Amino acid sequence: MSTFWDKQIERADLLAGQSGGSKDLLAFYAQLLRAQKEIYESFRGRTHWSPSGDLENDVSVVQSSMAGLLERVARNGPESLAAEAEALLHSQSNAMVQELLNYWRSPSDTQFFAKSVLQPYARWLAETGTAPVGRELAGGERTCPFCGGEPQVSFLQSREGSAESGNRDLLCATCLSTWEFRRVVCASCGEERPAKLGYFHSPEFDHIRIEACDSCKHYIKGIDLTRFGLAAPLVDDLYSASLDLWAREHGYTKIELNLIGL
Ligand SMILES: [Zn+2]
Ligand SMILES: [Zn+2]
Repeated sequence: MSTFWDKQIERADLLAGQSGGSKDLLAFYAQLLRAQKEIYESFRGRTHWSPSGDLENDVSVVQSSMAGLLERVARNGPESLAAEAEALLHSQSNAMVQELLNYWRSPSDTQFFAKSVLQPYARWLAETGTAPVGRELAGGERTCPFCGGEPQVSFLQSREGSAESGNRDLLCATCLSTWEFRRVVCASCGEERPAKLGYFHSPEFDHIRIEACDSCKHYIKGIDLTRFGLAAPLVDDLYSASLDLWAREHGYTKIELNLIGL
């Protein structure tokens, strides 16, 4: 059941080995994914425990799973995150517990540690069919039907029996589940008028584009698996970091920053 994590790790390792601007970020992300996989495995392998879906009940287990991730970030992370990880390794646990609970109730894409550790937790909830409890989220078709999380990335893939050239799915930033979404619609505000929706891409990344909306000025990255089936949307979003810089320069805000903060 670790195939999801292995796939992301494999893709990050491969891209980190290539030349290009995001090489260091990808090498770090590959380490982070390994730590997330370990956390996920620790939940799965825990005897006499299954998650309740209410983080207040589960938080001690979640927090106790974090040490490996903190060590990896302290060792391999960018300077500021490494320092923060080091501090958390030696601090009282209460601050981290509070951060986890805050994130769970009301997620923010700038809470790196909470998001990193709650992704494998929420994914385990999704896989065990344990409904998440205690999240104050808006809901609606533009957020994850399982946990209410924001979309991290959009992707196109062919589905059998479908007449369209590719179906569009969104991938949840919290539980990493995917859900089907209409193709020509802003994933942030629901804008449907084609004149308000722009697609931008650079020859450097043939299968990746910026899907931007001129009504709400938000964007999300779109990964086209019908063009390149070996891509992993979560990782390819990071790989194409230069497109994020381009979008930001042109006044667009990402719906949800990825773990690297882009
Ligand atoms: Zn979700
Ligand atoms: Zn919009």
